[in-house]
Order: sequence, then C-alpha cells, then structure tokens
Amino acid sequence: MTQTWPADWFERKAGVGCHICTQGRPAETAGGVRFYSGEFADAYLRKRAHLPGQSMVIWRGRHASDLIDLSEEEAAGYMSDLRMSARLLAAVFEPCQINYLTFGNSVPHIHTYVVPRYLDDPNPGAPLLPLVETEIDDTELQQQLEALERAAG
Ligand SMILES: [Zn+2]
Repeated sequence: MTQTWPADWFERKAGVGCHICTQGRPAETAGGVRFYSGEFADAYLRKRAHLPGQSMVIWRGRHASDLIDLSEEEAAGYMSDLRMSARLLAAVFEPCQINYLTFGNSVPHIHTYVVPRYLDDPNPGAPLLPLVETEIDDTELQQQLEALERAAG
C-alpha cells in the first residue's frame, strides 16, 4: 500500500501541533468572526463564503479529532451548541435547508461547516461542493453579524 495521507497523520489526529487547540477561544480567527459561544463550541461566520451565512462550529473541549472520540455528554453538548448556532443562522438568513459538514480531513480537530442552502442556489437537491469561498465585503459581514446578535437577543 502506498500511503496517500500525510506521514504524520496519526500524530496530528492525536493533537500534535493542533492549531485549533493552541488558539484558545478567540472572538475572531483568520477564517471567521464568532457569533455564538456555548459551553462546548464556538460558531464563526466565515469571512469567505460560497453563499450567505456559511459558518464553522468548532469543538472547544480537549483535543478530539472525531465525534466518536467524545463522551456521550460531550457529543450531546456539541450537538446542542451546533443546533443553537444553526437556529440563529436560520432566523437571519432564512435558508430552505441547512447542511452540516464534519470532515476533519485537513485539520483533524472536530469542527463542522454549517452551510445554509437557498431556493435559488446552484445545486438543488445535492451537496454544494466544492465549497468555493469568496471574500465577503466588510460592511456586509458586519451587517450579518449585527443581525445574528439581534437574533440571539
Ligand atoms: Zn485540537
């Protein structure tokens, strides 16, 4: 067998050099601005997105690369925060469906892309892949964040 995944893959899965663990819980990352912070996860509105409201929810407990590595309580907590983030996105962006993508193929620390889908989006009835991300105008991003804050009450 010729291994196609990185030679240090299992070390990375174990948390060696995990940049998500070392970043703590910042209000803003290179990729997004936080709009929800729960006990188990933070949700960030992406600065670059395919369609409005595309976000990333990041597990904020100990390093874990896969949902099966969490205890039942941790997994339920993550799901609860994921659902709360999605409720806020639904209230603001009014999608017709929401997709949840938990890959971890490049950064093996649990995180989930939350992708609102719209009645006029380019791939109805199927995944919106690849996730082509384009820069969101700063003013528009700020307006979206303010709308999410209002939705959170
Ligand atoms: Zn980690």
